[in-house]
Amino acid sequence: MYLGSVKFFKHLILLTLGLVLLVPVGLATHYALINVQLNKELQALKLSNLANLVYVQQRETEPVWQHSFQATEEGVIDYNFDLEYQNLYEDLYVGEIPKQERASNAIYLTFDDGPSQLTLKILDVLLEKKVKATFFVVGKNLESENGEHILKRIVQEGHAVAIHTYSHIYSEIYGSIEDYLRDFYKTYDLIYRITDIKPDIYRFPGGSINSYNNTIYQELISEMFRRGFVYYDWNVSSRDVAGKVTQQQIYDYVVPSCLKNSRNIILFHDSAGKVNTLKALPAIIDELTAEGYQFETLSRNVAPITFGYRD
Ligand SMILES: [Zn+2]
Repeated sequence: MYLGSVKFFKHLILLTLGLVLLVPVGLATHYALINVQLNKELQALKLSNLANLVYVQQRETEPVWQHSFQATEEGVIDYNFDLEYQNLYEDLYVGEIPKQERASNAIYLTFDDGPSQLTLKILDVLLEKKVKATFFVVGKNLESENGEHILKRIVQEGHAVAIHTYSHIYSEIYGSIEDYLRDFYKTYDLIYRITDIKPDIYRFPGGSINSYNNTIYQELISEMFRRGFVYYDWNVSSRDVAGKVTQQQIYDYVVPSCLKNSRNIILFHDSAGKVNTLKALPAIIDELTAEGYQFETLSRNVAPITFGYRD
């Protein structure tokens, strides 16, 4: 009888030994091959310019950089990302981003969501106080009555003009990269036609990271950088977006916050109805001037203040 015989146990021992040896060797070979493959890919990545991939890589949904690269004779990797939006609006490109400076004791007054009739009164205050500001304009407001005229006055009086989208409707602009670009281009084109200036800085409605754009913001920012556009968030909010904020509250939010920092980008709104913003402005300018701050306009030469990215 074979089962239970000495021969049987000999075979059993041999079989067990064979498995004990074969399985680890097999697994080790398998992982070694994977390791070699990964190393090759790592080398390929190191060779490539990752600058405009950083955000795309971290995208939460399916990665768009499915490897479709090939080594060329020079050892450079050609990526074929199939990012078709890069081919849209080819003239939406403002050249390489210049070297950026961090001025000290600087205040950047910024006004979002205009222009409106209120903008004219804000311009009067700025003129009287001899300070310059930056206006993040909403494209559709330029098509309203007086919109073009106000924009021209902003430029003539030495303020900076920046883009804050055409529609400002979150669900429309943040639907996809293509949606954002379409909206952005419309505003860019409008401003250029009215002022002869190609605006090259912008601000995202809701700030650069918000609940509407959180699945696309990294890729979106990456694409905007590729086209040369620089965005600015803020480090001090006047909180004037809220309906019932008083003149005194605006002052109390802004001035002590600014005094904590050497440079400040302050968020205000110049949409119609922001009367308390208008009223608070002169005292804010006076106090910050007395504290030794200089009022500057934003441009691509200014190092941005931006919201942090999640890990
Ligand atoms: Zn806004």
